[in-house]
Amino acid sequence: MNIKSKLCFAIFCGLMLCSFPSLAQKTDKFKVVLDAGHGGVGKGGDPGAVRNGVKEKDVNLAVTLKIGKILEKYNDIEVLYTRKTDVFVPLDKRPKYANKEKANIFVSIHCNSVDNTRPFGTETYVLGVAKDKHSLEVAKRENSVIFLEENYEEKYQGYDPNNPESVVGLMLLQGEYKNQSILLASAIQKNFTNNLKRNDRGVKEAGYLVLRDCAMPAILIELGFLSHKEEAAYLASEKGQNELAQSIANAIVNYKNEHYSYSDSFEYIGSEDNVHSTSNNTASNETVDNNKAVFKVQISASGNNLETKPQNFKGLNTISKIKDGNLYKYYYGETNDYKTAQNLLEQAKEKGYKDAYIVAFKEGRQVKVSDVIN
Ligand SMILES: [Zn+2]
Repeated sequence: MNIKSKLCFAIFCGLMLCSFPSLAQKTDKFKVVLDAGHGGVGKGGDPGAVRNGVKEKDVNLAVTLKIGKILEKYNDIEVLYTRKTDVFVPLDKRPKYANKEKANIFVSIHCNSVDNTRPFGTETYVLGVAKDKHSLEVAKRENSVIFLEENYEEKYQGYDPNNPESVVGLMLLQGEYKNQSILLASAIQKNFTNNLKRNDRGVKEAGYLVLRDCAMPAILIELGFLSHKEEAAYLASEKGQNELAQSIANAIVNYKNEHYSYSDSFEYIGSEDNVHSTSNNTASNETVDNNKAVFKVQISASGNNLETKPQNFKGLNTISKIKDGNLYKYYYGETNDYKTAQNLLEQAKEKGYKDAYIVAFKEGRQVKVSDVIN
């Protein structure tokens, strides 16, 4: 197909998806495409940035696999990878794969590098027009991988390698998903900053070829600067990679819970009695009507089956739990009133559950909070 018919086809697919959002949301798993940037050995291989003895392709792959491992524990998430080993994948194949699989989100993982050895920190990009010189340069560097591909002029028609913003003229598709992409990017940057205390360089826009053809919310994460000695060591370390992966996975799960809802797979453990018998705080003294929507605050999810007593939950009482796949999800409080749920959320955050969020149930099924808000 030429570029025009390719775009038309992709727009058509995008419209189809938009026309049937409830269908897509209720019957399918939440599909995440994880895209480890660069890859491959020898001639035609692409290590990405190489600084301070660290190769970008290795960090990207290690963190990507760790994110995937965490997300795979969720019953309602399907994780797909553009590469799981050290191989070269042409840039255009990555979004094509995500579109073919009708992924819900596309997350590309990269590391930064600049000549100056001082800058450090994380930044997450969505497709758009670069607003500063750095963003422009990063997009240029990340896009330059296409020169390793044959017929790149033909494959990336209309793209001027010296001007990443030429991509923007072709960004018909991402426009629709831009707000969602920004929400996801913000969630990730927020976790990096609040939980890991990484230097926050913000959510940015630039002309990334890899994001251009994605028919879904799509972001590109720069985990940190390999050109900064200490940050390079952190990025290469097991600890750093685990922390970054957990932060990204948490943000993806939060994003999914806020914007998509699935429900049938979990089973309740811990009787309703258990919930009420331990109840002695004012926020949850109400009698909950299970015929109405019930709000709870999800405070954590883990593979460990914990007793729902306060000492296991930083002193919080009225903890309930469900088993969802291999995970146990723990909730604080329950109420029919959304305002009360917001108070419960504040209490959970004050106790240190910074990633807590409100979930809603109706007739024993988890439902989208925005659908049942009162
Ligand atoms: Zn890269």
